[in-house]
Amino acid sequence: MATRTEIRLFDSAARAVRPFVPVHAGEARMYNCGPTVYDRQHIGNLYAYIVADVVRRTFEYFGYRVTQVMNITDVGHIVDDADAGEDKMALGARRTGKDPLRIATEVTQQFMADRHKLNILDPHVMPKATEHVPLMIELIQKLIDKGHAYLAADGVYFDVTTFPGYGTRLNAEPPEERMAGARVEVNENKRHPNDFALWRAAKPGDLQQWDSPWGKGNPGWHIECSAMSMKYLGDTFDIHSGGEDHLFPHHECEIAQSEAATGKPFVNYWLHVRFLRVDNEKMAKSKGGFFTLDDISEWGYDPLAFRLLALGTGYRKSLDFTRAAMDQAQRRLERWRRVVAEAYAATGGRVTEPEPDYGVRKGFNDALADDFNTPKALAAAEMALNLAGSDDAAIRERALWLLFDMDRVLGLSLRDAATKEDVLSSEERRLFDERERARRAKDFTRSDELRDELLERHGIRVMDTKDGARWERVAKGA
Ligand code: AMP
Ligand code: ZN
Repeated sequence: MATRTEIRLFDSAARAVRPFVPVHAGEARMYNCGPTVYDRQHIGNLYAYIVADVVRRTFEYFGYRVTQVMNITDVGHIVDDADAGEDKMALGARRTGKDPLRIATEVTQQFMADRHKLNILDPHVMPKATEHVPLMIELIQKLIDKGHAYLAADGVYFDVTTFPGYGTRLNAEPPEERMAGARVEVNENKRHPNDFALWRAAKPGDLQQWDSPWGKGNPGWHIECSAMSMKYLGDTFDIHSGGEDHLFPHHECEIAQSEAATGKPFVNYWLHVRFLRVDNEKMAKSKGGFFTLDDISEWGYDPLAFRLLALGTGYRKSLDFTRAAMDQAQRRLERWRRVVAEAYAATGGRVTEPEPDYGVRKGFNDALADDFNTPKALAAAEMALNLAGSDDAAIRERALWLLFDMDRVLGLSLRDAATKEDVLSSEERRLFDERERARRAKDFTRSDELRDELLERHGIRVMDTKDGARWERVAKGA
């Protein structure tokens, strides 16, 4: 088992890095705001879930029992995140002519398939909003009873004046100033412009609606996350995550309504992922132009190269997605796979656990425990990779053990690479390297001789590319 290390994480509420102290000893309970399943998730969304996956895997790596909950938003998320406008599910239905629940099923299936390609582990619970409406109604009723919410002509609203500090828990800027520049449609039914909808009265033609004490309607997006997170994790739980867009209004609203209802602290650590950007622009579905994991595959990249790119960024910096960055990540992944496979072949599959204070191992653990510093953890893993190329069998075996252990967090399928990757035998490698040295020394006669020998005797075709020599296996003498 890995050494017990104190995990420290940046908490958006404290605006500082804090040591992790769990609500329940030895456990980490976390909620990730899930996808709105009206349209295909893009690589920005997937990036947010890779981060959540690394957080979960880090806690497991350090021996915590993790409960991870991620909801499926299949009703209630309004197009502009505020209260005016169309429900995204209705938009999806209008665009495709399909029933909202059918769209939700299809998009969720696609999303899970994408996650699996990225080695993102399945959350322990994946509650759907549409299956928890009675729970939301109960929570809204509680807020009305306690004087935090009121019934208006078009639904039920949370009264922000009853919750001191509304909108400032995760962001120092008061909501008035933040909203001043934004387009806010005046809603005469609200007592205060910042009040937000807990329940929306059904409009004619609404495809999704439920009975409630306030007539037919549908729940607000924020109340969904409060109701479902507290149901599965308790009134106070450890970690709540989402993208940086959730800082306001979504998570501020969740805090207000949850704490107003229970009178207890809602979440101990708030984790927000900085956005993935393409050419320095926020990638938004509303703008139409966004990339999916299929696009990445069609361009010839391995989905795990995208995971590696994400790990190399660090969740508190925005990920600048470019083809050049993907090229680099792909090459890095291929090198990792090759080195691991060669070491595995060389050790005959033997691995040996090194001492807990073995330098590289400690470097990796410390990096992860320091607010999930994955770029630094990758650098430590790369040191293990160098050791895996050592001529000393004992060093190689330890390095391999470490790499497989690190992969419990990194999720790069290194064990598969070890057993499935086609690698050169040591004789083939010796000839290949010697040819490369001859070519660099411009000894073309020798380099051609070696190229022929590799092809005729070993069935290895060598190709020179701008990134150096590559090889492929063909029929001998082909
Ligand atoms: P949505 O399906 O829009 O509700 O978003 C699902 C998750 O992806 C949320 O946690 C968002 O905050 C997150 N997200 C959306 N766009 C991006 C982006 N460009 N980069 C990182 N995370 C994002
Ligand atoms: Zn949420």
